Order: sequence, then structure tokens, then C-alpha cells
Amino acid sequence: MSLAIGIDIGGTKIAGAVIDELGEIVDAERVPTPLEPGALEDAVVEMITRLQSHHEVAAVGVAAAGFVDAAQSTVFYAPNIDWRNEPLRQKLEARVGTTVVVDNDANAAGWAEFRFGAGRLVSDMVMLTIGTGVGGAIVANDHLFRGGFGAGAELGHLRLVPGGYACGCGQHGCLEQYGSGRALLRMADEIADAGGIGQRLARVRDEHGALDGRLIGALIMEEDAGAIAALRQLGHWIGEASASLAAVLDPQRFVIGGGVADAGELLLDPIREAFRQHLPARGYHPEPDFVIAELVNDAGVVGAADLARVHVADRVQRAGE
Ligand SMILES: [Zn+2]
Repeated sequence: MSLAIGIDIGGTKIAGAVIDELGEIVDAERVPTPLEPGALEDAVVEMITRLQSHHEVAAVGVAAAGFVDAAQSTVFYAPNIDWRNEPLRQKLEARVGTTVVVDNDANAAGWAEFRFGAGRLVSDMVMLTIGTGVGGAIVANDHLFRGGFGAGAELGHLRLVPGGYACGCGQHGCLEQYGSGRALLRMADEIADAGGIGQRLARVRDEHGALDGRLIGALIMEEDAGAIAALRQLGHWIGEASASLAAVLDPQRFVIGGGVADAGELLLDPIREAFRQHLPARGYHPEPDFVIAELVNDAGVVGAADLARVHVADRVQRAGE
């Protein structure tokens, strides 16, 4: 069975794994992410070299946050690493002697869900990753949609509220400001300030100095009315955005991932409700369903490895035509 390496460069750690054709992890390791770009590249090369020394692999896929060109080669911009027009693929290939492809981390995670997780039975899928921000991935007609320049599927920056909250992208009112973990904190703070059902949130905030995702998550699991209200607000925005996305993409399925998706049905319920309220021409066409992502922590490495394998297979096929 053919193997590929997936590397997921995160803000705090680099995860690497050898993945088989069924998406199963054969070998895995992780190291802390060095801050300096040169040291980071060295760490990635060392990881690939170690994994290659134990396994024969067909290709290496690298996933990182940021804009990657459509040729899966150059990182235009990475928010957490000092890369600007970084020819990462070329640099890594020269050092590891194997085919390397680079992809955006949200794309890699979405591809993993499509191939081996919650999206494996559909041809058209949208994934929204609700973490600190909002990541997006689109699979259309069994292919990952990258856009003409590679910077497509930035679903967190879909405009939801004209003149709304300022976003890190330089615009205002993006989904990320209404449907992310950071937005959930703001909503929980507002509910805590308002008293009533927010009293418990306010008490927990006083005890800990500030609310964070872990505290709110615990309150949601205890079915605290204030924390649930914040989650429902968040879900409504995600559902409203999903209705607009469905008008463009007509997916069979939305997959919701990221840390906030741990809330499961408690998050999906308001998403579905708002989706139904906002879907254009509802009742005249089939509707997608909403499910929680299945691969969670491994999606980045699994997706990166499989995208590398697909790249090599496409190249072999083109050469044969
Ligand atoms: Zn934005």
C-alpha cells in the first residue's frame, strides 16, 4: 500500500505522520514549533527525514495557516510565521528529495473529512472550522476548490454584517467576527454583563478573572442557560452564513469542526434553525445536512498527506495521456 507523509505546522506544535491510502496513521510524531523561520524549516526537514528513514513514501504534504498559491508551492502570506512569498515547496524538495506539496491547513482538514470522515459519502461539501477564528474548505464535484490564485474558500471572511465588527483581514462584519470561538467569548461577556441568565457566567468570570473557551465549554456541558444562549447566538450567525454559502455552492453536506464543535448538537441545532430561516427559495430544492467533523486532531496531517498522494497520482495520469 502506498504511503505519504503529512506535516501540519501549527502555532505551537508541528505534527507529522505517515498515512496509508485509507487515511490510517502508520507512524506519528510531534515537536514544538520553532519561532524563527529557518529553525522551523529545519525542524520540518528533520521530521520528514526521520519518518522517511522508517517508511517508503510517495510524497509529502505540508499544511500551514495562510495563503498558499494554486500550484501548492508558495506561501504568499502566513499569519503566524514570517513567510512572505516563501517558496516552501522548492526549498523542502531540494532538502528531502521527495515530491512535496503545500496546502492551507483548513483545506487539508476539509479534504481529510471529505475523504475519510464526515464528508466521505458526498461529492460536494463545505467545512467550517470554528476555532479561535473561522476556517473554511470547499469540495465541489469531488475536487478541493482552491480558487484561481489559491486564496479561495476563505469562508471566515464572508461578509455577514455590513459595517459590523472590525476583522483582522482589514474589513468589517466578517463571519469570523460572529461565528468564531473569539466571538463566542464576546457574546458570553455581553450576556454576563446583562444579568438574568448571565449571572452564572458573571460569577465564573469574577472567579477566574476572565472567561475563556474552556470555562464556557464546561458551562455549556452543565447546560447553563447563559452559556447556551451565547452558543445559540453563535450558531445562528453560522447558520445564516451557511444559507448564503448554500445559495452559491449547493453542497449536500456542511461539516462543522474546530474546538467549538465539541458542543455537538447544541451547536448544530441553532445552525440548522437559522439556515432554514435564511435559505433562498427554500422548499424548491433539496437541502444539505449539518454534521460534526469526525477526524478532529488528525485532520491536518491526514488531509495534507492525501492531497500529496492525489497530486502525484494526477501527475502520473497526465503523463500517461
Ligand atoms: Zn475578515
